[in-house]
Amino acid sequence: MIICTKKKKLADLLFKKNASVGFVPTMGALHEGHLSLIEKSKQDNAITVCSIFVNPTQFNDKADFEKYPRTTEQDILLLNKADCDILFLPDAEEMYPAHEPVKVYELNYLEQVLEGKYRPGHFQGVCRIVDKLLQIVQPGKLYLGQKDYQQCMVIKKLIQDHFSGSIELVICTTLREPSGLAMSSRNMRLSKDARQKAVAIFNSLQQIQNHIQHTAFASLEETIVKSLLQSGFDKIDYVVIANAENLREELHFNPQKKYVALIAAFINGVRLIDNLLLNTEV
Ligand code: AMP
Repeated sequence: MIICTKKKKLADLLFKKNASVGFVPTMGALHEGHLSLIEKSKQDNAITVCSIFVNPTQFNDKADFEKYPRTTEQDILLLNKADCDILFLPDAEEMYPAHEPVKVYELNYLEQVLEGKYRPGHFQGVCRIVDKLLQIVQPGKLYLGQKDYQQCMVIKKLIQDHFSGSIELVICTTLREPSGLAMSSRNMRLSKDARQKAVAIFNSLQQIQNHIQHTAFASLEETIVKSLLQSGFDKIDYVVIANAENLREELHFNPQKKYVALIAAFINGVRLIDNLLLNTEV
């Protein structure tokens, strides 16, 4: 695997290769979920590029940024084993040169709800970094995890608005632990006890799936908030059943529509998110 820390060098390298490129952007602390994206990209493309960059502009909470797990040596071993072709590993100066004007992205409703509401500025930061990475890598296909459902919608808009839809977005299913807990770099920060309790998020999503046809959404959401608190979660940011196409909140089940349930909650001081498509495949 070639490790590249400079954007110019990476762009030159890819230009010379002149082959189909699949791109998997990450913040490192890699797990099997990330590796499933690499594997998918390898199936579809001649060259797979993975990036690792803990992007400061998408963290609205400084302590969260500082505590974010960083395991670069182990990540490199995993990427080598996965036969990834190129790792882009820039530092903050490389991605954010001093005095660079801040680009603003029009995300409208998408950044006002759910993650956008509870993490102000988060999606502007995500767009800033993904825009830069896509300009450097210029992939034919971009691989993202459904685990970050709203992020997928935001990046879809970024590609439409700023790359004329020229990059194909491939959304990959969420990999889970045998318990059902969605794999996440943040799980590394959970105590053994909290990791067991955290399974309640996935159980809640399934409970929602089993009841949406017959229960008003608001009452179902309220029941789930209460049961998560009882299961040992410290704080719930949201439990929402939304229209899967546009993330608008809905009140009752309509078989003509597709729904997604999304949860964000804190356990052991760690914020976890997960979601489940309720009546559709990805
Ligand atoms: P992150 O490093 O958390 O920014 O994630 C990098 C990419 O991996 C994003 O597209 C995530 O949605 C995806 N990802 C994270 N966790 C999982 C998972 N459990 N299964 C599949 N993809 C994931």
